[in-house]
Amino acid sequence: MDLNSHIEKILWTDQEISQRVSELASQITQDFSTNSDSSSSSSAPIMVGVATGAFLFLADLVRKIQLPISVDFVRIESYGSGTVSCGKPKITCDLKIDVRDKHVIVVEDIVDTGSTLSFLIEYLKSKGSLSVSVCTLLNKPERRKVNFELVGSGKFYCGFECPDYFVVGYGLDFAELYRNLPYVGVLKPELYQ
Ligand code: 5GP
Repeated sequence: MDLNSHIEKILWTDQEISQRVSELASQITQDFSTNSDSSSSSSAPIMVGVATGAFLFLADLVRKIQLPISVDFVRIESYGSGTVSCGKPKITCDLKIDVRDKHVIVVEDIVDTGSTLSFLIEYLKSKGSLSVSVCTLLNKPERRKVNFELVGSGKFYCGFECPDYFVVGYGLDFAELYRNLPYVGVLKPELYQ
């Protein structure tokens, strides 16, 4: 099966993504180096990837960050196998690292309605994180239904503003397929409608 033939159009190529990931990593390195003594491992940020969609983005991003960061994953489920949300988010695989008094950067594949992110930020706040930043590959601001507030000195980093299409690739799936495409593209609507 040629997954490429299921794509209507490519929005961002692997080269464009790689370039943008380098820029985000430089920005994060700069912001967290100047943040008091964050270049020491005790105050460098914990990068929390939201599984599974953020796995490629997180892997590429952390290799370009020049700080002694830690990495963890959280799994939050609210989507089924289709393209529409099916309810309130819940944690189905929790963090291993204690985030109390730590700077956390949540790494997301895409912020759509904002429901997942708002839930996760509140969760990290309740766990005593010193600050919560967000680094998302894609953002669909016009789809927002739930607003979120960053914690402490937290910052919002975004790779690309995404038009209102259902996109796949570079970690993003439809029914657990397409995650391994090296680019982000629009899935042909007839494949999910
Ligand atoms: P939210 O809670 O912001 O509505 O949705 C966040 C999650 O929905 C993302 O982490 C992602 O898994 C899924 N999602 C939202 N929009 C898209 C999309 O266009 N394509 C894919 N593959 N997943 C999406």
